[in-house]
Amino acid sequence: MTIPFLDLSAAYHELKTEIDTAVNRVLESGWYVLGPEVEIFETEWAAFCEADHAVGLGNGLDALVLALRALEVLPGDEVIVPSNTYIATWLAVSAVGATPVPVEPDPATQNIDPGRIAAAITSRTKALLPVHLYGQPADLDPILELARDKEIAVIEDAAQAHGARYKGRRIGAHGDVVCWSFYPGKNLGGFGDGGAVTTNRADLADRIRMLRNYGSREKYVNEVKGVNSRLDPIQAAVLRAKLPHLDSWTERRREIAAAYGQGLADSGLILPQEPNWAEPVWHLYVVRSPARGALQARLKTAGVGTLIHYPVPPHMQDAYAELGIPAESLPLARQLAGEVLSLPIGPQLRLDEAHKVIQAVFKITE
Ligand SMILES: *Cc1c(COP(=O)(O)O)cnc(C)c1O
Repeated sequence: MTIPFLDLSAAYHELKTEIDTAVNRVLESGWYVLGPEVEIFETEWAAFCEADHAVGLGNGLDALVLALRALEVLPGDEVIVPSNTYIATWLAVSAVGATPVPVEPDPATQNIDPGRIAAAITSRTKALLPVHLYGQPADLDPILELARDKEIAVIEDAAQAHGARYKGRRIGAHGDVVCWSFYPGKNLGGFGDGGAVTTNRADLADRIRMLRNYGSREKYVNEVKGVNSRLDPIQAAVLRAKLPHLDSWTERRREIAAAYGQGLADSGLILPQEPNWAEPVWHLYVVRSPARGALQARLKTAGVGTLIHYPVPPHMQDAYAELGIPAESLPLARQLAGEVLSLPIGPQLRLDEAHKVIQAVFKITE
């Protein structure tokens, strides 16, 4: 590929000295599980997210699972999830024995449509789980208001939204608890798995801290059946080295998104929209085309790497056959899965490369 979808080693090469120093600091320290590196990262991450607390975890899926456990979502309960999301959002709900109840997106934002949530709430609904998909904040205010009315919790899946703002304030503590992934391809990613929650609720932070460590606050005293899901100190050190650069990386993503928005305005593709209450961080730049297959094939011929996020919605996966949700009952999720295509975007993509992508699209649509 002349222009790969995303070059994961580019961030390492940009910050090689800082990252090598950070990793070596952990290796020399003799402290390889939890400890000061994780604690300092938690403080820095909470501050970045404008939240009171952060707890470092093993990965983003665990962040969602432990958030649900901390809120005592139990077997038989229901959790409202977007029909259009990465399957991890649903898997977390299933992992605690609860049932994911899908709600269709607003086609303009591709995020959960707040206007459709009320109809999906039942007496068993324990939580609302909006996702800030592609780095675009979901419309939180109506969701938070509904949750207050019904006295249910809001858990945000922010695995794609590091640094995004909703009505001027960072994603990080609008809902009860906000879940993060530091998977390598995320806007802030380690060199391996990692995750976290942020929250303004001390009770939830405290409970998740206990759950991540075998259900133990004090060594050999186990209050509940917890898990082992702790952010690795080497990953924490890498994340600390990268965090000061995150805002400038987001700025570059914004420039690329703006270039795509201008350059592709007359391409016939459906482009992502930016609602005036949102400052997205462009984890992905996702266009839509009914002729997606041909577009992707010919971009590939032009040397442009693209990916599909996501080709099969969760309700149409074998894993969720048990729910018996007919494919056509969630037509928007199904349609989006057939039309979306993610163009190259990332902090190390140059603007001249973005312009080459635009030229390649026009060669195709001519
Ligand atoms: C990446 C991702 C997750 C899961 O994070 P992992 O760290 O890979 O477990 C969950 N939800 C969404 C929307 C994601 O993009």
